[in-house]
Amino acid sequence: MTCETCNTKFSYFKLLKSFWFAYQDIKCNHCDSTFEHKLSNRVLGGLLVMIPIFISFMVFEDKPVLVPIIGFILMSMVLSLSLPFIMKFSRFD
Ligand SMILES: [Zn+2]
Repeated sequence: MTCETCNTKFSYFKLLKSFWFAYQDIKCNHCDSTFEHKLSNRVLGGLLVMIPIFISFMVFEDKPVLVPIIGFILMSMVLSLSLPFIMKFSRFD
């Protein structure tokens, strides 16, 4: 993603961090524009938690409860690595 105002590119980790810190707004270091997460990112984030919980508890049904929990956390983390490529933002005016 690039800044709409000055075209500065936001780093992958800046976007990922913003997701993990509860959809924190993103501020451009260059021109001070602020961007907020669009609703679709929150929907994606919700799915990213729901789907791994569902899959993990199905696959590890007969295992001790800690196993599906760890499975779900690992799956969410791996899936979230793709988020910076698909998240959308709008400028905060
Ligand atoms: Zn900018």
